[in-house]
Amino acid sequence: MAKTVVIVGSGFGGLEAALNIRDLLPEDEIIVIDKKQQFTYQPALHSLACGFVKKKSVVMNLEKIFRKNNIKFYQEEAVEVKPLENSVITKMRKINFDYLVLSTGGMVNYHDMTDLEEHYFKLKRVLDAENIRVNIKEEIKKAKHYNNPPNIVICGGGLTGVELAAEIADKVKGKAKITILQSGPKIMNGFSKEVVKYSELVLKKKGVDIRTNSTIVSGKKGMVCLKNGEEIYASIIIWCGGVKSNPLNYKAGLGINDKGLIMVNEFLQTTQPHIYAVGDCSYNYKNPQPATAQSAMHQGELVAYNIYAEIKSVEKKVFIPGDHPYLISIGRMHGVMIKKKSLKKGFIPILLKKFVQKEYMFKHRHWMWPLKKVKLK
Ligand SMILES: Cc1cc2nc3c(=O)[nH]c(=O)nc-3n(C[C@H](O)[C@H](O)[C@H](O)COP(=O)(O)OP(=O)(O)OC[C@H]3O[C@@H](n4cnc5c(N)ncnc54)[C@H](O)[C@@H]3O)c2cc1C
Repeated sequence: MAKTVVIVGSGFGGLEAALNIRDLLPEDEIIVIDKKQQFTYQPALHSLACGFVKKKSVVMNLEKIFRKNNIKFYQEEAVEVKPLENSVITKMRKINFDYLVLSTGGMVNYHDMTDLEEHYFKLKRVLDAENIRVNIKEEIKKAKHYNNPPNIVICGGGLTGVELAAEIADKVKGKAKITILQSGPKIMNGFSKEVVKYSELVLKKKGVDIRTNSTIVSGKKGMVCLKNGEEIYASIIIWCGGVKSNPLNYKAGLGINDKGLIMVNEFLQTTQPHIYAVGDCSYNYKNPQPATAQSAMHQGELVAYNIYAEIKSVEKKVFIPGDHPYLISIGRMHGVMIKKKSLKKGFIPILLKKFVQKEYMFKHRHWMWPLKKVKLK
């Protein structure tokens, strides 16, 4: 009898899972639920925020992709998972499943400073990037009139903050003052000394001011307040303070860790074996993975295989992380590629990052492109 596989969230992990399940199980029913109509290629949002790429190169229409592949798509928000009833509740309906994949990603983390959400820009969706672009343009225009360069403050010196600051610097070319505020003693926490040093060097060359040990405790429109009592005023403040777990994780009735991430085993199964979780919403307690697009896609592929294996009564596979290179851009001309222990700096990583984006978008969008065959043997 045909089974129903439901996938909640169609970002990097969910989309990969859905297409691979369709490839492996042509006869079974696949239903994807996502609150958004479009897939967003988040690693290129900083380029969109600076007007270096067009919207169409970072978004894809999910409905079109799924229609082409005979997958049912509901553009709805899932509000609850009922593991014991095998159903997902959206604002519109109840959807029953035999197998479920949760791939809802993460949310912007304001660390309980709720005011910041109202007053600061963020970079998670296409609309966020467009808001940043329009406002930078306006502020630069105003500054010409008053002969006073605007202050742009980026709160958070992690990967998103650094990539965005560098790209903005390339865009405004000295017509604005750009500052990164980082709570810890160095930017890009978790990366090697060499990567941090190179990133700092490039940012400084571009005129970006890096302020470490600058913990933000509150803020309001046009102002950031630091732990040491200092107040920093800026015309554009962008929050890049990290991600937190999706609220649905708490309502899923599954085991979660102290950060609210859904715990999965080596097969990416949750505490309910017929429910899987992938990407940024999950935590693989046997083999923790970084929250990256590559990792989410790889997990999506594996889950597709494991659901197939379950249905066909063959052996499931253990998640073994791939050795994908990690690509970081620090502006338009400088980047870093980290692969295992090797490091490549300069323009090549930028070219590769662009290539990876173009290939991903083409492959998933092009009407003649056949479904990707699952490589896991
Ligand atoms: C600005 C930025 C830059 C980044 N740069 C890089 C980079 O250079 N390299 C890299 O590898 N990674 C990068 N990342 C991280 C990468 O984008 C994530 O790790 C990846 O998107 C995770 O994939 P996912 O499938 O888990 O979640 P997502 O891709 O976030 O997808 C989650 C999906 O779930 C949907 N959803 C959420 N809740 C619900 C609900 N309740 N009901 C229905 N649908 C729901 C959302 O609409 C979304 O479509 C970046 C992220 C950002 C924000």
